[in-house]
Amino acid sequence: MLAARIHSPGGIENLKLDNIEEPEINDGEILVKIKLAGFNPLEYNLINGKVVYSVKPFPHIPGSEVLGEVLNDGRMVKKGDRVIIYNRIFDGNCDLCLSGRENLCYNGGLWGVITNGGLTEKILISERNVVKIPESIPDDIAVSIPIGALTAYHALRKANASAGKSILIYGASGNTGIFAAQIARIMGLRVYGVSRKTWVKDYGVLKTFLMDDIPETMSFDIVVNSLGSRFWESSISHVKQGGSLVSFGVLTGRETTLDIATLYTREIQIVGSTGGTRNDLMELLKIMETNQFRVPVAKKFKLEEIKDAISYYETVRDGRVLIEI
Ligand SMILES: [Zn+2]
Repeated sequence: MLAARIHSPGGIENLKLDNIEEPEINDGEILVKIKLAGFNPLEYNLINGKVVYSVKPFPHIPGSEVLGEVLNDGRMVKKGDRVIIYNRIFDGNCDLCLSGRENLCYNGGLWGVITNGGLTEKILISERNVVKIPESIPDDIAVSIPIGALTAYHALRKANASAGKSILIYGASGNTGIFAAQIARIMGLRVYGVSRKTWVKDYGVLKTFLMDDIPETMSFDIVVNSLGSRFWESSISHVKQGGSLVSFGVLTGRETTLDIATLYTREIQIVGSTGGTRNDLMELLKIMETNQFRVPVAKKFKLEEIKDAISYYETVRDGRVLIEI
């Protein structure tokens, strides 16, 4: 079967399409035929050797966001089920796992980063990572859940999002931003976005601002900054007294300075968030089953066209890049 594999860290030139052996069915594991994969900053950075995590094994199959079909019966999922992969590897035994925080497991990490991932035809994975998707959720939305929607939902929960609050989302047109906007609107927040793309207004954003164009006087209960250092100063300056700044990414860099006095005199909380828990995922699926979500898809590529997909991903694009397998 075909697999996109990185042969050594750092650089798209190390990415090859290889013919590899199909995995064999193991007890307690599920064989999944991959149908669609999402291409995110995670995959992009991993292929370019810029990921903040350590990657193994090599050669390495990237891909941490997939939709597929189950090929063998398990205890909870059955052959033919349409599923996504909960992309956190976890031991299930440590105190964090036992308190429902598998995303922080001491012995865990990201599927597709610390293990091979899903930019291939079939994968074998523990059944506890396989999640059946309700019929009412279309493929393009379903494939966007494991990273885009789940990261957004967990971040909103960590920032104590609730009805009536205001939220400002940096990168509102991004893979996570577009879901943060829609989920926040459903939760009853007033949603504002920082984006050059005016179409984000079709996704629940009341008003968009350009980066340097946010009125100085405007502040928000929650500010979402997944873009990293370049926007840090601006994002913290727009957090209301008693509000929160939530971060789950470092797209423009990972270091910054901080005026500690601003932090305590205004009682601002800085909240770190990573991925989501399995419980978050179950809650999110219930929300998504009964509310209509949309996702802008810029272009779909075949797995064979993975290098074209990466080049296209680097251009100014409107929406998601998906890989059909
Ligand atoms: Zn654990």
